[in-house]
Amino acid sequence: MTASDIVYEGNALDHFLYRDGHLFAEDVPVAEIAAAVGTPFYVYSTATLTRHFTLFDEALEGMPHLVCFAMKSLSNQAVLKTLAAAGAGMDVVSGGEYFRAKAAGVAGDKIVFSGVGKSADEMRMALTGGIRQFNVESEPEMEMLSAVAVELGVTAPITIRVNPDVDAKTHAKIATGKSENKFGIPISRARAVYKMAAALPNLKIVGIDVHIGSQLTDLAPFEAAYLKVADLVETLRTDGHEIVRLDLGGGLGIPYTRSNAVPPLPVDYGKMIKRTLGHLGCEIEIEPGRLISGNAGLMVSKVIYVKEGEDRQFLIIDGAMNDLIRPAMYDAHHDIVPVVEPAVGHEPAKYDIVGPVCESGDTFAKGRDLPQLAAGDLVAFRSAGAYGAVMSSEYNSRPLIPEVLVNGDQFAVIRARPTYEEMIARDTMPEWL
Ligand SMILES: *Cc1c(COP(=O)(O)O)cnc(C)c1O
Repeated sequence: MTASDIVYEGNALDHFLYRDGHLFAEDVPVAEIAAAVGTPFYVYSTATLTRHFTLFDEALEGMPHLVCFAMKSLSNQAVLKTLAAAGAGMDVVSGGEYFRAKAAGVAGDKIVFSGVGKSADEMRMALTGGIRQFNVESEPEMEMLSAVAVELGVTAPITIRVNPDVDAKTHAKIATGKSENKFGIPISRARAVYKMAAALPNLKIVGIDVHIGSQLTDLAPFEAAYLKVADLVETLRTDGHEIVRLDLGGGLGIPYTRSNAVPPLPVDYGKMIKRTLGHLGCEIEIEPGRLISGNAGLMVSKVIYVKEGEDRQFLIIDGAMNDLIRPAMYDAHHDIVPVVEPAVGHEPAKYDIVGPVCESGDTFAKGRDLPQLAAGDLVAFRSAGAYGAVMSSEYNSRPLIPEVLVNGDQFAVIRARPTYEEMIARDTMPEWL
């Protein structure tokens, strides 16, 4: 067995496999969902979501721990409820996410609140509704949280997010652990900031938080950061602080192509955590997003036209950058596959795959090898579960696309496509018009 077999079952990253030439989501043909809900749409696999959560949970076995799903990667209520039922806590970064987590039935003491710009209202909401801890990212935020906690007559449990100044070696837009990034406080100032926190009323220090970036494909930057955290635990304890919890962030990468080197497995990540931090007796929290949700979702789209360019062929599909912005925003690669496998001996083709939005950036892939396709054929974008639907917009007045959840041989629409009427109903006219 290779590493990828262990994590991803028989070389599959997920539960989206071909049967007799037809792509399935678990036991449901993708074409059947397309016929029921129309294209484009997102479809998620319950089995893949829970499997990836369980891999993390098992990787930390033997240490007190909580796996908090970074719900900014995929925040549909049905997905949250699925993961919460499996035992997940939630990592939230806004009042809206906190509201979603609570509405999905997640207890306040399983919700951690991250983010550099928590407002007083968001703090009030979490302190009133229940919170495991705030991951505080600056001195002014700490003062604000203290003031809000005093106002409410409660105590706010906190960790302080330290920036360990390690290079995560990932895309610049998703690296967060270098001193030039806006996140956390420089680890060199940690002692002073913890001292300040201890002196502020109604705050209770519970631990340390660190998150160095996303889509990391190597354990070395994590290990470098966690070794610095281990030193900091000792120092802060010597200073008299009670450090009982370590929030280690998310960021473990996923393979976006079959040919990629396989990123580290959760089990090896867990071993490294035990090796670097296990002796400290702390409760461990991790906040994976992408590794749980990324390969648990497809975006399915239909070919509208095949257009002959001067020196290339364009596959114009009904999905666009407003539905899946990762290629435009991060130069991200998604494998794009036909929903019906071509017959043996088919004609191969090369396509630039583009959406209908009026931007050159609305390009999903250039010169991509695919079997020859025609108008009406369905294609599926793999690894689209994370940072897909949650980053979508109605640019070009394209209604948000539906989300579907599959569970075995059942599927359900978990967010319907709005009608045009519903889309414009949120706009209101000023009285002078
Ligand atoms: C984005 C983010 C995560 C999740 O990152 P993934 O790469 O999706 O695992 C976790 N924690 C914090 C603080 C984040 O900002």
